[in-house]
Amino acid sequence: MKNVNFKYLTILQYPDPKLSAKSRDVRKNEPDLLLIIDSLKNLAKKHSKGGITLVGLSAPQLGLNIRLFVYYDLRKKQYMEVINPKLVYASKELSTEWEGCASVGKGENSLFGPVSRSKSCQIRYYDLAGNEQILNANGYLSHVILHELDHFEGIIFLDRVIDPKLIMTARELDEYALKHGGKYPEV
Ligand SMILES: [Zn+2]
Repeated sequence: MKNVNFKYLTILQYPDPKLSAKSRDVRKNEPDLLLIIDSLKNLAKKHSKGGITLVGLSAPQLGLNIRLFVYYDLRKKQYMEVINPKLVYASKELSTEWEGCASVGKGENSLFGPVSRSKSCQIRYYDLAGNEQILNANGYLSHVILHELDHFEGIIFLDRVIDPKLIMTARELDEYALKHGGKYPEV
C-alpha cells in the first residue's frame, strides 16, 4: 500500500466506501506488511475492553484493501495474522451466532445481529514468515473467519443478519444478558 500514515490509522465506520470495496491479494514484498499487521493487532487490542475481546479485524477496515486479517487465538492467547486466505471447505451445516463488527457502531452503540454461516470451515493461508498454514475453525471461530473473508468482498455482516428486526445495540444486548443469566437471545 502506498502512503500509509501509520500514526493515524483508525478503524473505519460503516458506510465508509472502503468497507464496500474488494480487496486484492497481498503481494510478495508488500511494502510495510509488518507495520500493517502490527497496526491491526494493536488496534484490535485497543478495541478490546472490559473482558470483551475483539475476535477479528481485517485490513480493509483500516482502509487498506488487501487480503489480510488478524484473529484472536484462544489457545495461544494472542492475535494471529492471516495472509491471502483461501476457503478450502465450508460445511453445509449452518449455525447461528450473534455477530458484531468494530466497523459497525462504537462502544455501547455497536450493532449486533444473528447471522447464519457454516458451522465449520477450513482455510489455507500464509503467515508473515511466508509459511503456508491450515486452520480448521468450528462454531464461533468459523463465523469469525467467514466474517473476515466477507470484508475482502466488501460485505458487512448487516447484509447477512437473518432478520433486521433482531438487530440490537451492545447496550440492549448486555441488558438482555444481565436479565437472562448471561445468555443472548435465542435465535
Ligand atoms: Zn467486521
